[in-house]
Amino acid sequence: KKLGFAIVGLGKFATEQIMPNFKDCQQARLTALVSGSPAKAKKLAAEYGIAEQNIYSYENFDSIKDNPDVDVVYIILPNGLHAEYTVRAAQAGKHVLCEKPMATTVADCEKMIAACKKAGRQLMIAYRAQYEPFNLNAIARIRKGELGKVRAITADHGRPVKPAEEKADVWRVDKKLAGGGSLMDIGIYSLNACRYLLGEEPVEVTALESSDKSDPRFKEVEDNIHFTLRFPSGVLATCTSSYSYESVKRGRVFGDKAWLDLDPLSDYYEHTLKVGSSKGETEPKIQEGNQFAAELDHMAECARTNTTPRTPGEEGLRDVRLILAIYEAARTGKAVTV
Ligand code: NAD
Repeated sequence: KKLGFAIVGLGKFATEQIMPNFKDCQQARLTALVSGSPAKAKKLAAEYGIAEQNIYSYENFDSIKDNPDVDVVYIILPNGLHAEYTVRAAQAGKHVLCEKPMATTVADCEKMIAACKKAGRQLMIAYRAQYEPFNLNAIARIRKGELGKVRAITADHGRPVKPAEEKADVWRVDKKLAGGGSLMDIGIYSLNACRYLLGEEPVEVTALESSDKSDPRFKEVEDNIHFTLRFPSGVLATCTSSYSYESVKRGRVFGDKAWLDLDPLSDYYEHTLKVGSSKGETEPKIQEGNQFAAELDHMAECARTNTTPRTPGEEGLRDVRLILAIYEAARTGKAVTV
């Protein structure tokens, strides 16, 4: 039997990417919606065959505890609201899948982990790239030693943020709801990728920020932030994150025998992986897979078997700690030990 999922927040990502991809799930199905707009929820419920009694508002959301059709609550709200709804979902006895970044403060992340632990429910952070075949293939090649000894990583994630044209970008330039700028939103893909590609945790970070404060988009949140991570093995990772350069989402791992490129690394539907050296380059054949369905199925399986997901709350907390250390390094101009 497939486990039932409730989606909280029917915005751009939920409606355009997540809801349509339940069709490819083996273990997960969409059974409830939580929205501030009854008209939008009703229309989507009709489209997805969801019973009207399974539509909730933010006010009556807590009564979801009495709904046996819902096993997992998936939080797809602006970052600053993740903690409140994760805690409420856990208190309602539901497992929680929460979008990245997990939250905007370490204290909120810890509250979320504690609430799920207390309720005896699983908490997973929706790091979709960690369920995506090209990224999993890259991890396997690196672990097998195909690149030799890894010496460095570079990763770049950015896109122009457009709050004047795009509704989903309005909260992204609001510090209270977003927690920060490009780094919280997309630089996090570079940060998370450095960690999973290497399988190590950074011990030190440095950073520089450059934001045009006369641009109304960057009054509260940062635009460009470049950061360096030092890993215990000696690997240095150098990352750029931006809300103003044309869309890029790539990473390169440099080994002493070969390099590996993922470009894009974190797309929704298209990826490329190349391995090369002075002897030439190859593009191994890898089958694109539905990372959204894989992620939803993993959450369902962990909920059903009550096992810790591959990307638990602790994984989200690590990135939030590092993001805040990167902000501190940029602010003080000093390296920060983590
Ligand atoms: P969005 O603005 O389109 O969606 C957010 C939804 O929350 C909207 O439906 C909005 O009405 C609702 N909402 C409820 N209370 C709100 C409030 N007080 N202020 C503003 N909106 C409120 O944004 P989105 O792009 O769908 O992002 C939502 C979340 O999903 C974010 O955490 C984002 O980081 C994450 N996301 C993840 C990916 C990914 O690839 N994993 C991609 C995009 C977004």
